[in-house]
Amino acid sequence: MRPEELFQRFTKLNTATLSDGIKAPHKYLLLLFAIGQCLKGKDRMIPYEHVKKALEPLLKRYAPYAKTLKPELPFWHLQNDGIWELESTESENLPNSGVPGKKTLAEMHGGLTQEDYELFSNNPDIAMSVAQEILDLRYPSSLHEQILETAGIDIESDIGVADDNEPNTSKKFQWFRRHWRDPKFPKEVIKAYENQCAVCRFSIRMDEKPIGLEAAHIKWHQYDGPAKVSNGLALCAIHHELFDAGAFTISPDVYKVKVSDLFSGQGDDEMLGRYDADTLRVLPNVKNDHPNRQYLVWHIKNIYRGDPSSLL
Ligand SMILES: [Zn+2]
Repeated sequence: MRPEELFQRFTKLNTATLSDGIKAPHKYLLLLFAIGQCLKGKDRMIPYEHVKKALEPLLKRYAPYAKTLKPELPFWHLQNDGIWELESTESENLPNSGVPGKKTLAEMHGGLTQEDYELFSNNPDIAMSVAQEILDLRYPSSLHEQILETAGIDIESDIGVADDNEPNTSKKFQWFRRHWRDPKFPKEVIKAYENQCAVCRFSIRMDEKPIGLEAAHIKWHQYDGPAKVSNGLALCAIHHELFDAGAFTISPDVYKVKVSDLFSGQGDDEMLGRYDADTLRVLPNVKNDHPNRQYLVWHIKNIYRGDPSSLL
C-alpha cells in the first residue's frame, strides 16, 4: 500500500464537527493509544475498561474542554471508519446501533483490524509515521512529545526503531512530514512584541538574536489559524508550551491572563499562578496587531483547560 493511501485512511476519519469547525480529536486520540499498544506487542483486541482508563487522560488534556469525559463515544463510533473492530465476550449483546450502556461496554473489546495491526507490528516506523501524521495535522509540535507519552508511545524505544542508519524498506513513509511554518511569522510577531514574552517579559538576546523566545499561534495553524501578528503572541518557551497545553488563556478585549486550576507542581506559582489576572505586559504598538478577539475566543473554547463560560 502506498503511504498516501494509508495516511488517508488514518487521518480522514468521520468526526463530529464541534464549535468553530473544530474536528473532534477523540477518535484520533484513541488511535494513538491503539498504535502504542500495538508497538508494545499487546493483544490486538483491548478490553473496553482498559481503553477507558487510558483514554480519559488523553481526552481531558487534548480534546476541547468538556464537563464529562465520554471515552465510550470514540470507542464505539470508530468502528464506522473501517479501521477499528469491536467484539463482545457475550456476542449476542453487541448492539446493532446506538452507543451501548456501561454493562455491555464492560464486556466489549476493541482493536485495529487484523491487517493494520500486523502492518504496524511488523513495521514500527510505519506505525510511528501514521502517529506523527495524526499529530502534525492536529496539534502544534510543542505538544507532540507529551501526547505520545500520554498515549503510551515510548518515544525513546519506539521511535528509536526507525534508525536512519538501518537499511529500511519503508523509509518513504518518513518523507511525509509536513512543515507549515511560515518563516516570516515568528520574526514579525517577536518584533511586534519588542523581543519580550507577552506574559513575563522574558527577553534574553545574544548579538541581538532573541533566545528562548517564540511566536505562538493563538488559533492553531492546524485549524487554519493564519500566520499574522494578530493571531500571534510572543512567548518564552515555557509560556508557549503552557499556552498550547491550555494551562492559561487570554481574555478577549482586556487581555488578562487566566490560569487553569488543573495544573500544579514545582514552579506552578512562580511560572504560572502569579500571572493570573494580570494584563499582558507587552502588546504591539499597532492596534491592528493586538490579539484578535476571534482567535482568543477560539483558544478559550477549544484549548483552554477550564470552563470557558467565565471568559466569554
Ligand atoms: Zn514568559
